Amino acid sequence: MSTSAEPTTAPAADEPPVVTFRDLGLGEPVLKALSDVGYETPSAIQAATIPTLLGGRDVVGLAQTGTGKTAAFALPILDRLDLTQKTPQALVLAPTRELALQVCEAFEKYAARTKGVHVLPVYGGQGYGVQLSALRRGVHVIVGTPGRIMDHLDKGTLDLSELKYLVLDEADEMLKMGFAEDVETILADTPDTKQVALFSATMPAAIRRMSKQYLNDPEEITVASKTTTSSTITQRYLIVSYQQKIDALTRILEVENFEAMIVFARTKSATEEVAEKLRARGYSAAAINGDVAQIQRERTVNQLKSGKLDILVATDVAARGLDVERISHVVNFDISTDTESYVHRIGRTGRAGRTGDAISFVTPRERGLVNAIERATRQPLTQMQLPSVDEVNVTRLSRFDDGITAALGETERIDRFRDIVAHYVRHHDVPEVDVAAALAVVAQGETPLLLEPDPEPRARAPREDRFDRGDRDRGDRGDRGFDRGDRPDRRPRNPNMTTYRIAVGKRHRVEPRQIVGALANEGGLSRGDFGAIQIRPDFSLVELPNDLPQSTLDRLSDTRISGKAIEIRVDTGGPSRRPREGGNDRFDRDDRPPRKPRHRDGA
Ligand code: AMP
Repeated sequence: MSTSAEPTTAPAADEPPVVTFRDLGLGEPVLKALSDVGYETPSAIQAATIPTLLGGRDVVGLAQTGTGKTAAFALPILDRLDLTQKTPQALVLAPTRELALQVCEAFEKYAARTKGVHVLPVYGGQGYGVQLSALRRGVHVIVGTPGRIMDHLDKGTLDLSELKYLVLDEADEMLKMGFAEDVETILADTPDTKQVALFSATMPAAIRRMSKQYLNDPEEITVASKTTTSSTITQRYLIVSYQQKIDALTRILEVENFEAMIVFARTKSATEEVAEKLRARGYSAAAINGDVAQIQRERTVNQLKSGKLDILVATDVAARGLDVERISHVVNFDISTDTESYVHRIGRTGRAGRTGDAISFVTPRERGLVNAIERATRQPLTQMQLPSVDEVNVTRLSRFDDGITAALGETERIDRFRDIVAHYVRHHDVPEVDVAAALAVVAQGETPLLLEPDPEPRARAPREDRFDRGDRDRGDRGDRGFDRGDRPDRRPRNPNMTTYRIAVGKRHRVEPRQIVGALANEGGLSRGDFGAIQIRPDFSLVELPNDLPQSTLDRLSDTRISGKAIEIRVDTGGPSRRPREGGNDRFDRDDRPPRKPRHRDGA
């Protein structure tokens, strides 16, 4: 393989050699599944963690969502499962039902080529029946929230006596949600011989202590980062949901003054899909990835160099070493899983002394990666907003003008048309400007010149009126946050929500996250089901969907927070009708239902 024949893959001097999943020691079925899902190379956390776990050592990994940590622990587990063992071999603890389900899906995806692997999600809110019958049939991997796993252990319905692998995913989140005790009990009550992998985005003292006490000489893995971004590259990021990415990219293509662009996607299939969608929208775009034959890749890169092609959609591997001066912009359609790959990617622009632009799409859950990149590159990333319809239209109009100006410069061709147009004007008695407009219609075809205005945005609370739940909670579902408790009244803003009252408040030292944790896990609610939460001195108000089934309410009524039964009921706005424990009447009197919105601190 000569270097000259491989212009797109030959690593530049500043790039390390490519490590493959095969190099990490994974077996065939898992490798096949990875090839099916289109991962080309391991992310940094995967490259560091997988061999260690395969070698049998415990791991403490400092990694957040978006780094590929799920595969980092799931792949070595799947690789070593004994499919003849009936009792559970691997247990993954996750802070929320949402994450537990995601991890389950990931396991299933990676196990697609391993026949007969059974993975079971176990979380509060789901009926015990389903879980019990699955457990009886035999499962290999359990992914669950600590509360429900503890319930099964207490009931004797879960046998962890032969557990081989235990993973604590998002350990810091689990502690924040009040699961420390449950997690420690599970750690202590499972075989000493098990291998433990603990992943956490931060390393507070409690986690350090836990890992010292329960892990056996763990290898600490923090992905080292390279710090050589060029200051001639302007770095921006856009918070965007997965579904909005293509629209966001097309708007950026409209308003950015780019010459040539590389768009990075995580998987081979994503490169094809994005390139296809861009072509459908009239851009000259092509995909390169590990599956594209070398000769075709070279042809594509040459087209980019010569200006026949403007947009290349690539995976990391396919774009290694790419050196094309025309590349003015790099767009991370999927943000890099680690800072090192980020640095390599954006180094594809700003070549040969030019300036460059890098724009990264970041989903709300991946927000933490921006800080990691800033820390590693020691350069700030500026948050940008999605270009508005007005901005797009202004650019379209100025391009339209530029088109006319450029055509007027082609004097010979203009001369030939001038007589034809003049003839039309004379014979049809139409003003010249109308004829020009008619010609524009012909030139424009069916596609409208200007974008329609965006629909009115949903009325929402101002940003600072909301309790910040952290990245994961904002989710891709829209930005629903929690009030800090300073709402003037108790009516939910959203007509689909009902305000419930629970009998724990400031006096019981509860915090919104505990309420969410408890209700989500016990009621089987997703975090997106929560509206505003107001914590009052003696009770709290929680907005939940109107249509909560009675069975959910029944389950919730048994829930305890900080040891106290929550006695959930629909809030009528009035003082508690139940006999209260002594001494707290004065708080409730203070909390009479408002006749009209009041502006006072709810506490
Ligand atoms: P996680 O940090 O585990 O939540 O993973 C973040 C995203 O990266 C998920 O969408 C994974 O499917 C994807 N991903 C994980 N590992 C790789 C890889 N080696 N190559 C491409 N994508 C990956």
